Amino acid sequence: MSAKCRDRAEACECVKLVQVLGSRLGMAPTVIVKSENVGIRTQRETAAQRVIANFGNQIPDRRLLCFFDDTDWQPFKDRFGKENRAFYGPLREEALPDWPDYVRRLIFVPLSAPKVAFDHVIYLYGSTCSSLLALTMSFAHELQHFVQHENVRLLWAANSLLPHLDGSVISALELRWCDIPHEREARIVSKRTAENLFGVGDVNRYVDAKIAESTTDGDRTDWECIRGLDTSTHYDLALETMLFFQRRLKDYIPELEKALQRMPADFSADVDLRKLLGRTSA
Ligand SMILES: [Zn+2]
Repeated sequence: MSAKCRDRAEACECVKLVQVLGSRLGMAPTVIVKSENVGIRTQRETAAQRVIANFGNQIPDRRLLCFFDDTDWQPFKDRFGKENRAFYGPLREEALPDWPDYVRRLIFVPLSAPKVAFDHVIYLYGSTCSSLLALTMSFAHELQHFVQHENVRLLWAANSLLPHLDGSVISALELRWCDIPHEREARIVSKRTAENLFGVGDVNRYVDAKIAESTTDGDRTDWECIRGLDTSTHYDLALETMLFFQRRLKDYIPELEKALQRMPADFSADVDLRKLLGRTSA
């Protein structure tokens, strides 16, 4: 890569990026599709904007970067697992050392204040973007996590604690990823969005194909869960989170507190375990 390309990745000819600003009203998510093929870029940008439009006015007015890669950045697969298709995360002012240059340079601007140009990021791997239906489902799923993080932070934090329980607790609970309420809601929204944009038949055929081609128990279980989700009724995340904690976690208070202590201080402050477990303060 040339020096010019390193300095101005977003504008460099060798990294064909197109920034779609979307609506000028409010702060629309910024969509960046990386591809050298103009037709592919246009297709994926259009698919992304249709997902955003499908969310209507639910998307928080924040600085969100939605990056659609044309390759699978291996350090992310190493960190999140080979089955990971996309992820959402809030951003802090840090240098993002294991991010690809072509994304980091969009986010981290060391000579400016603040040093980050975005406060939130959604990343989709190239393999996810290779199918417009996969792109739609994964992008809608991560957008819903963004909505949860900004609109119902307490619920997002409480649910996000659960994967941090000890492995022995997760095994004892027979906890599936899609049992966690905020993950279930993201899967329902994702499936509903895809059904709206592609039709129920295409989505069912796609999910059946994913079940058939799954190579791990975890992946197959997850797609089977998605197949069984009812998208026609409202999912009450607050109620489902409360019920989940009170029915399945009431005997694991010390383990929950241990997991909470391992989380960052600002995260821990968001979670009131006693309230979630239906108990009054001592
Ligand atoms: Zn998720």
